[in-house]
Amino acid sequence: MTQAVDTPRTASRQATFTGLKCKECGETYQPEAKHVCEDVCFGPLEVAYDYDAIRRQVTRETIQAGPNSIWRYRAFLPVETDTPIDVGTGMTPLLSAQRLARRLGLKQLYIKNDAVNMPTLSFKDRVVSVALTRARELGFTTVSCASTGNLANSTAAIAAHAGLECCVFIPADLEAGKILGTLIYDPTVMAVQGNYDQVNRLCSEVANTKGWGFVNINLRPYYSEGSKTLGFEVAEQLGWQLPDHIVAPLASGSLFSKIHKGFQEFIKVGLVEDKPVRFSGAQAEGCSPISQAFKEGRDFITPVKPNTIAKSIAIGNPADGVYALDIARKTNGTIEDVTDAEIIEGIKLLAETEGIFTETAGGTTIAVLKKLAEAGKINPDETTVAYITGNGLKTQEAVKGYIGEPLTIEPKLNSFERAWERANTLNRLEWQQTLV
Ligand SMILES: *Cc1c(COP(=O)(O)O)cnc(C)c1O
Ligand SMILES: [Zn+2]
Repeated sequence: MTQAVDTPRTASRQATFTGLKCKECGETYQPEAKHVCEDVCFGPLEVAYDYDAIRRQVTRETIQAGPNSIWRYRAFLPVETDTPIDVGTGMTPLLSAQRLARRLGLKQLYIKNDAVNMPTLSFKDRVVSVALTRARELGFTTVSCASTGNLANSTAAIAAHAGLECCVFIPADLEAGKILGTLIYDPTVMAVQGNYDQVNRLCSEVANTKGWGFVNINLRPYYSEGSKTLGFEVAEQLGWQLPDHIVAPLASGSLFSKIHKGFQEFIKVGLVEDKPVRFSGAQAEGCSPISQAFKEGRDFITPVKPNTIAKSIAIGNPADGVYALDIARKTNGTIEDVTDAEIIEGIKLLAETEGIFTETAGGTTIAVLKKLAEAGKINPDETTVAYITGNGLKTQEAVKGYIGEPLTIEPKLNSFERAWERANTLNRLEWQQTLV
């Protein structure tokens, strides 16, 4: 058996989601493996909740008494089970970034550090934990995804933990660390000779024929809800308050839109006070369809062919692009893009000031943060949160040639002394150069 065809059991006592709802026309559907409004308008489906039921079940205290993972917010997630797949995903550090703030002329800057998310060191572990828990409930035994890299890592790892069969699809030209970091879990890996948008198109066809649970296709409504936890955690970690401004990377635009939904839900059930939060998005210049639409004042996205080192966010035809655009505009935020050279500088800046090694997507976010700060588009007193979504050890080739080298010495004190002297001379020269 691969797919449950009948509707799921009536929701258990604690289930708080009521079904699926079209984001465009409002048509409702049973909570099955379905992502498109096929009866009416072909818009995307989203999970709908009974917020009165959530309000009755949840307080700050019940959340704090829950697991130290995304599952402390289970009432806001689209699963029925009391035993979700919990591999310790979520509750990553929210770091006060004082040295980076000073460099950028800001005062209240925080880094939400999903470079150390469990188990595969990217924010994708959040969405996959939710999608695979739901996949299991719906009776799927084989799970799959169309990935830009991190999603394949997460799907393969969490499927292994849950004992699900797994077949993932990636563009063939991904970074070595992303490919190895998938293969180690022993799924079937299809390296497609094409870009992500072609991989995604192929997967839509496979989803129609195979009856597999594709986390970001037929399970997408459940999957994308996992990103709300990036909003919930920041609110809780700030002492049950919303920030003034967030900066996050945009690939499909889903993560960005769901952080917004997470904040709105916390307001709706009374866990935080309502206040305006500005949403600013980050893209790589070599794949910036959402940023281009923002700058040109368009409310539609023109797809592009990606060409950037920021492969994890290189989606040329972003499914949730128009929703991200809308959120940036209505919250008085902005969307900006940066060059590959600026992305590398962003990776180095975060590492040197805060001790966090992020991948290219995080470099994009930091470079955009810097650009906005320099342009006066971030008020220095605003509580600003920059979302770091992935780990630099997975994209080492991006910084090769742009960082220093070790000083090779003999195992002798005088060899060390000579090298130390040389290093200091070099540092002094570099320092003088920065002064001219
Ligand atoms: C997938 C991904 C994103 C963006 O995800 P969307 O929800 O598609 O916008 C950002 N950062 C990293 C590291 C990712 O892997
Ligand atoms: Zn519809």
